[in-house]
This record gives sequence, C-alpha cells and structure tokens, in this order.
Amino acid sequence: MDQHLFTNAIVKENDRIPVTVIGLGNMGQALAAAFLRAGHPVTVWNRTAGKADLLVGNGAVQAETAHEAVAASKVIVVCLSTYEVVKSTLIPLAAKLAGRFIVNLTTGTPNKARLLDTWAKEKGIEYLDGAIMAVPPMIGTPNALILYGGRKELFETYQPVLQVMGGGTTYLSEDTGVALLYDMAMLTMLYGAWYSYFHAHALLRTANISAEEFLPYTKDWLQHMIVPSLTSSDAARILDERQYETDVSNITVNKLTLDHIVNSSRELGVPVDWLLPIQTVTDGMLAQGFGNDGFERVFESMINRSVATPLDQNR
Ligand code: NDP
Repeated sequence: MDQHLFTNAIVKENDRIPVTVIGLGNMGQALAAAFLRAGHPVTVWNRTAGKADLLVGNGAVQAETAHEAVAASKVIVVCLSTYEVVKSTLIPLAAKLAGRFIVNLTTGTPNKARLLDTWAKEKGIEYLDGAIMAVPPMIGTPNALILYGGRKELFETYQPVLQVMGGGTTYLSEDTGVALLYDMAMLTMLYGAWYSYFHAHALLRTANISAEEFLPYTKDWLQHMIVPSLTSSDAARILDERQYETDVSNITVNKLTLDHIVNSSRELGVPVDWLLPIQTVTDGMLAQGFGNDGFERVFESMINRSVATPLDQNR
C-alpha cells in the first residue's frame, strides 16, 4: 500500500491535533515525517538543530528549546537514544509537561519504563511507553509494529494519533514495562539467530564455501526444522506447560550434537565461547537424570525463580 495514502487515509480531520516530536535521530525524523504526511501540525526539537531542516522544509515548526517544543502540543512523542537522555531532557520540564501526554518510544529496559511512568504520575503527566519493532523507512506504513504498555484508557484516547506511526499499533498491558519486555524478547531472538548464523558461515568459510552457495540448502532446512520450533503452538505449549517428554530427540542425543559442533569449531579455529554455557547447562540436565527429556528442558535453567510469573501462580 502507498505509504502516503495509508497515513492520510486513517486520520480524520478532527484527529489532526498538534504533535511535538522530541529527538530527531533516524527514528525521530521518520516519526515526525509520518505526522506531517498525515496532516498534523508538528513541532520538533533536537539537540543538534540542523537535523530539523528537512522536516521544516515539509511544514514542521522548529522549537528553539525543548521547553518551547513541549509548550506547543498536548501530545509529546519522545524518541531519544537512551532513558538517561530522556530523563535529562524531560525532568527539567516537569512543570510544563503536567497535563500533557508523553508517548516515549525510546528503547530501554522494562524497569526504566516503569520508573519513568511512576515519575510521570507523580508530576500529573499522562504517559505511555512504546516499543518500535520496525526500522525508520517502515514508519507510517501498515507493516510497522509498535507495541504499547500503560493505561488502556490513554491508549484508546490517543489511538488515532498513535496509529499514524504504524499500522501495527498494538496495546499490550496496563504494565508500562511490557512493551519493552516484548521488544527485548524479540531482539534476544534476533541477536541469538544472527550470532549463530555468523558462526555457521565462519565454519563454512574454512572450506571456502560462500554464503550464497550455502543458501539453497539452508532456506528449506530453516523453514522445516527451525521455524516451527520457534513459532508453532505446539512449541509454545511445551514452554507454557513445562512438560518436556519426547519420543523424537532427547537431551542425550542433543548433547552429542553440541559436542560435535564445539569439537568441529575448535578443529577449524572458529571461537566456541558462546557455545560453552549451552554445553554446561546440557551437562547439568544429564547429571540430574533428564537425558530422555526434550532439549526444551534447558528453559528450566533460565526461569527466574525469585520472580513468580503468572503462569507459576496458576500452578
Ligand atoms: P539516533 O542515534 O539516530 O538518534 C539519537 C537521538 O538521541 C538524536 O536525536 C540525538 O540528538 C539524541 N541524543 C543523544 N544523546 C543526547 C543527549 N545527551 N542530549 C540530547 N539528545 C541526545 O538513534 P535512532 O533515532 O535510530 O533511535 C532512537 C531510539 O529509537 C533508540 O532508543 C532506538 O533504540 C529506537 N529505535 C530505533 C530503531 C532504528 O532502526 N533506528 C528501531 C527501533 C527503535 P543529536 O542529533 O543531537 O545527537
């Protein structure tokens, strides 16, 4: 779908309320541009003023100071590098922010989001925390997934405005930290997959096999072997029910495979450091007598026992 048609189509004239965007890095610029395309009056502020030039050329108003930017709109979208920067920018503006709505799309930890929400409540500021699961060119398109945590009532009130930034605008929970929890969970899968992908190709490179050459074999294999084990309901049920019986592939056989990977890597001079903790956990499972269970039992070694999860409470 055409990006411009999408954003313009969903915003009714009455919903085109003024929006301020604080932070004009790659992501902040994309967010501000989406609001401009959707017809919102947009005020922007960035520490390095020059980054506003293109947006100003497209109709944004550039505030001289963050204070002036906040004063211009009820809706304040914040997208800065870290929560530390967010706090150093917003805390001095608390009085001016009272009664306004902050939607913070900066990436951080779930607890940082919860603490900022507590601060906002104390100061009479409406606050939602969002996690952008997209890159800047996707902003304002139907495919941009943006997850939110915080008061549902606030989300519903501002949904038409939030929707401008992405078709996948999704409310998750009253818990303000949950959007970033989802974000970290997804990104953990991303970096785990990337790192193992690089390791695989380092192994192949020892026999001068290019990434391109390997592609036809890996594509189908990933689709049939790995994708279902990460994305199917059957796979999810194993973790949710914590029942690890298997008659397909048990820890004993998986442990042997892991040893083969580590030994082959050592033989070929590829670093194995990241694989060793997996070996240690697997050895521990075998020592405890779980050799006939599925590899998913490794999950048991990661669940934080000091924090009762809702799934645990239901047990
Ligand atoms: P950039 O590095 O492009 O921009 C960082 C922003 O933070 C700039 O506006 C920068 O201002 C500002 N900043 C940094 N330090 C300070 C400071 N001390 N005082 C004031 N402002 C400061 O990052 P992105 O725009 O790419 O990312 C912004 C947020 O969005 C991050 O939390 C990121 O994780 C998240 N995000 C980004 C994605 C992406 O693909 N880019 C994807 C999903 C989330 P200045 O221009 O003056 O340096």
